[in-house]
Amino acid sequence: MSSIADNIGSVTRRIQKATLQAGREPGAVHLLAVSKTRPPEDLREAFSAGQRAFGENYLQEALEKIEALSDLEDLEWHFIGPIQSNKTRQIASAFAWVHSVDRLKIARRLSEQRAPQLPPLNICLQVNINEEDSKSGCTIEQLPDLVAEIGELPNLSLRGLMAIPDPDQPEAGLRASFRKLANTLKQLKADHPDAGPLDTLSMGMSGDLEVAIAEGATWVRVGTALFGERPVKS
Ligand SMILES: *Cc1c(COP(=O)(O)O)cnc(C)c1O
Repeated sequence: MSSIADNIGSVTRRIQKATLQAGREPGAVHLLAVSKTRPPEDLREAFSAGQRAFGENYLQEALEKIEALSDLEDLEWHFIGPIQSNKTRQIASAFAWVHSVDRLKIARRLSEQRAPQLPPLNICLQVNINEEDSKSGCTIEQLPDLVAEIGELPNLSLRGLMAIPDPDQPEAGLRASFRKLANTLKQLKADHPDAGPLDTLSMGMSGDLEVAIAEGATWVRVGTALFGERPVKS
């Protein structure tokens, strides 16, 4: 079995190659190591190989790892899972980024609960791009109002959009979904120039990061290709 350090090397090369092929600037795409279900030792190994940004889906599990790894400097924690409103306080204080904001109530609470002495919390709006019943995320139609209102919140920096397209569609469908997210971001930025940087597309995972990068991803969220298959949740 290859080591986590080897996997970081090969995923990094995949990202570099796809970035080059897309004619984009080297360094335009960041790697988020999705470490849900993984023990702290795995994150330490990734850290030793140079990885600094980690994505977690489950708050309690994340808080335990943040504590266990508090000796490591410059770690950047990203929350990428569904958010219950009674969990926003801890999310607002422990994370640098939240990719999975999908309603105004959650954004308001995150802004109110973010300590003003911390830098603004970076957020992305999660879009249910293929309108699947099973997925969280807002609709494309809800975005203009959300962006206008969230753009006014003081302790958030509205960075962009996140999506998890339906994986059971042919590559052309995936590509179209990523492209739609990218075009939507462009339009929002044009219509709401003061709402925030709106410079981020969080899209692409282990199996489809090349397609996502070709369509403009700035963060790819990769779990399996770095840490191996996750145990099935019982
Ligand atoms: C688990 C997860 C990932 C990583 O998926 P892989 O296929 O293991 O790379 C990315 N994004 C989100 C939101 C996830 O929950």
